[in-house]
Amino acid sequence: MNYYMELVYLASSVLFIMGLKGLSHPESARRGMHYAEVGMFMAIVGTLVSGKIITWEWIIVGIAIGSVIGAAMSIFMPMTAMPQRIALSHAFGALAAVLVGINEYIEKGFHQEISNGLMSALGFEVLFGALTVTGSLMAFGKLNEMIKGAPITYKGQNIVNITLFLFTIGMFIYLIFSPYDATIFYTMIALSFLIGIFIVLPIGGADMPVVISLMNSYAGLAAAATGFAIDNKVLIIAGSLDGSSGFILSIVMSKAMNRSFANVLFGAVGSPQVDTSKLHEDRPITRFGIEDTKFVLEQAERVVVVPGYGMAVAQAQHTVRELSDELEKRGIKVDFAIHPVAGRMPGHMNVLLAEANVSYDQLYEMDAINPTMDTVDVCIVIGANDVVNPAARTDKGSPIYGMPIINVDKAKTVIVMKRSMATGFAGIENPLFYEPNTKMLFGDAKKVMQEIVAEFKKN
Ligand code: NDP
Repeated sequence: MNYYMELVYLASSVLFIMGLKGLSHPESARRGMHYAEVGMFMAIVGTLVSGKIITWEWIIVGIAIGSVIGAAMSIFMPMTAMPQRIALSHAFGALAAVLVGINEYIEKGFHQEISNGLMSALGFEVLFGALTVTGSLMAFGKLNEMIKGAPITYKGQNIVNITLFLFTIGMFIYLIFSPYDATIFYTMIALSFLIGIFIVLPIGGADMPVVISLMNSYAGLAAAATGFAIDNKVLIIAGSLDGSSGFILSIVMSKAMNRSFANVLFGAVGSPQVDTSKLHEDRPITRFGIEDTKFVLEQAERVVVVPGYGMAVAQAQHTVRELSDELEKRGIKVDFAIHPVAGRMPGHMNVLLAEANVSYDQLYEMDAINPTMDTVDVCIVIGANDVVNPAARTDKGSPIYGMPIINVDKAKTVIVMKRSMATGFAGIENPLFYEPNTKMLFGDAKKVMQEIVAEFKKN
């Protein structure tokens, strides 16, 4: 039976790799997800036929509860809550790794069978697992706006975090040589839970993408260590894939946020506090209506649409595509500029625009579009805020200072569609709204877009 199990595991590992390869391009992403789903199904079947199952009752109960929760989440959770859902998945995945680790420790400890190698795997599993549980729950709280998005800092925070981390690593090393010291084992787990909270506290809302991808990586590494601890090859492979792809994503996201790698690993400690006294300055803005917008768009030769989180909230992507079609019919060139951290998860905007059948040829990444922004006649900013905030370029005191943005302010005219003067996720004022070439078009993005499209369809 074990021979079949290894074969099934091998097949599912190949499917995971094909899945990841598929995810590297929007066109093949859906197919990639299907490969990964089949791979996961096979991994579960492989485990069930492994011949190692002692009692089925709990497994059946687990599958039933997991399936009900999974189905309910996929049916009822809106797309906009996807980042929170991902953060929760990381927390649950890591909790599973911690529980398996503790169980293994108790069982092998009882038989006095903990070798140095096994303790290394177990220690790594519970340490990274535990800090991922609380770190992901903190990320969930920040994304769900249950915890304030601004960095929570205090004097000496850096030293406290590093000391705590080194102390915990010290316990881990001690355990490798004295594995039966249960007090140290459980203290190490408790401290790891604490580290998860501490490392996410000082990270501001705008840096959350890096936290999420880093937690993804930690959860994967904890799963890989679980695979070593319980001698399960598919878990080692899947965990390593998850850990390394999450790690690469962290680097990509930190580059997009212009954060150094040390800053990613130890959190954005020292991010300046948001000066809320500067919010909603009493400066004049220019308001635009539907007809003004139509008039300006009609005169344009090149239009660039910059989508953000508000487009996702309003589910305006289909109407945006309709507007793009209407403009292109009139010989106006329309492109879409995608910021790597627009929305609330990596690739959020690409997914929505792909769902609305926006052609891939029209999608441009930030680095590709920025050098051409001064040739753009009209830039439509739809529900984006932080990713087009020029304070990132100019205001050294801003928490997003240094983050590359889409330079919409360089376009001849900028039309910003949002409901109010409210801030974006980072909670900071956006000087773009007060620029002379910026026109504010207030309202729900979908409703406003529908009205513009209706105007165009009139003639
Ligand atoms: P922001 O969160 O900065 O701004 C979104 C804007 O959309 C708000 O100012 C809001 O203004 C507007 N909005 C909300 N609902 C609607 C609606 N129905 N119709 C019209 N407008 C609406 O979004 P960005 O995409 O610019 O930036 C993303 C932010 O999220 C960055 O700070 C990024 O770091 C962070 N982040 C990104 C993650 C990722 O992986 N991509 C993960 C976690 C965080 P108003 O209320 O006035 O309408």
